[in-house]
Amino acid sequence: MTARLIDGKAAAATLRARVAGVVHRFLAATSRAPGLAVVLVGEDPASSVYVRAKGKATIEAGMQSFEHKLPADTSEADLLALVDQLNADPAVDGILVQLPLPAQIDANKVITRIDPDKDVDGFHPTNAGRLAIGLPGFVACTPLGCLKLLRAELGDLSGKSAVVIGRSNIVGKPMALLLLGDSATVTVAHSRTKDLASVVRQADIVVAAVGRPEMVKGDWLKPGAIVIDVGINRVDGPEPGKTRLVGDVEFASAAQVAGAITPVPGGVGPMTIACLIRNTLVSAARREGFVLENDL
Ligand code: NAD
Repeated sequence: MTARLIDGKAAAATLRARVAGVVHRFLAATSRAPGLAVVLVGEDPASSVYVRAKGKATIEAGMQSFEHKLPADTSEADLLALVDQLNADPAVDGILVQLPLPAQIDANKVITRIDPDKDVDGFHPTNAGRLAIGLPGFVACTPLGCLKLLRAELGDLSGKSAVVIGRSNIVGKPMALLLLGDSATVTVAHSRTKDLASVVRQADIVVAAVGRPEMVKGDWLKPGAIVIDVGINRVDGPEPGKTRLVGDVEFASAAQVAGAITPVPGGVGPMTIACLIRNTLVSAARREGFVLENDL
């Protein structure tokens, strides 16, 4: 392997510790801790793991965690009523409704009901619009975490050529807008892109958010490229009956060519949660008029 390993776990621990330090000062100044409400509908195993991890990180940062677990047959009206209640609750600075939601609930309707100034996931159309035109708001945690890893690796992204593979609303599109905001030259590739390998080969920065195990190969990369692998795919492991996690990039071949690469797990995943608690602190600070001296 020639690539440097981008240690998302360490970067996330550093960010979480910085957030915890500021939470301490926030508490002293305002006599309350920032609060994050997480809503889980049903018992999807992956979602349950994420919700547990989010609650733990919130508490470790010195914040209040409000967990709302609703049965899988919850009606849309009941979920919207809970969102209204959380919007009105002064102790709640951030609201996160874990996706996916059961079929009887329209996720767009629920996301749009969240107060945009408590939308720490950054999924509300108002926050998507703010990002698009460069206004302060909340940026989705996964692409924000990727941007932080890239800045730490490269410093200035200005003029770099970046390819984002994937155009979802929660990863690909906001990622492309963040890179554009840092003055990278951005290409968004997707399922209809022709000759993806040659598109990827132009890039100094590759962000893969596809959901296809090990799709991006080492010989697609420009030597020295910085590779951020967002993918989390569960595949059969070498031992029968055991699974393992892989990214959207074939790590072994990519690490021979890239300048630096995130592992899966231990890359983007931990940064996502660190950015969630960061966004919650930013929300609390805005709502209380508490000045954050340093950019977190
Ligand atoms: P999605 O399914 O919503 O979007 C996938 C995108 O990939 C689509 O825009 C599609 O056009 C594109 N695509 C599909 N097949 C392609 C192909 N053959 N070539 C080029 N592009 C193709 O997925 P998502 O929600 O954006 O998530 C992407 C991956 O990131 C998944 O593996 C998901 O589990 C992972 N993820 C990780 C985190 C994290 O915290 N690390 C967070 C969110 C998502």
